[in-house]
Amino acid sequence: MVRAVAFSVEQNDPDQRWIGCYHCGERLKAPAIARSFGCPKCHRGISLDDITVQDSGWSGMLNTCGRIFIRPRVRTITRNVHAGDGIEVLGVLEANVRSGGPVVVGAHGRLKGSVQATSLWIDPGGTLECPMLRIGPTRPSG
Ligand SMILES: [Zn+2]
Repeated sequence: MVRAVAFSVEQNDPDQRWIGCYHCGERLKAPAIARSFGCPKCHRGISLDDITVQDSGWSGMLNTCGRIFIRPRVRTITRNVHAGDGIEVLGVLEANVRSGGPVVVGAHGRLKGSVQATSLWIDPGGTLECPMLRIGPTRPSG
């Protein structure tokens, strides 16, 4: 609990935000207005923007410290998805999902894959097919 309180105080700094590097797991501070950031530990680029997938056949990486939205009727199949702040699935997402925030599956949404998230909500009518589920506070990995 002590750690959680300290964390929330740090988050109140309006110019900086804490993010976790999804490549190496390093916790670092980034300017709140930044849209991308270079990790000082592994020197790889980190996206901070929210990602909205509007069309099926998305072939890029789905990694961001922001949120990821899968729009209705969009079918997205990829290996790994990482979102720092949460994922909302209104279409179809087949991937192994790691989220530092809530994962929401909408009424016509379908999520297939392993899920690691701080919380999980499935609207009535939504589908979750999940061989591995972990719900709880995120811990920096690596
Ligand atoms: Zn890194």
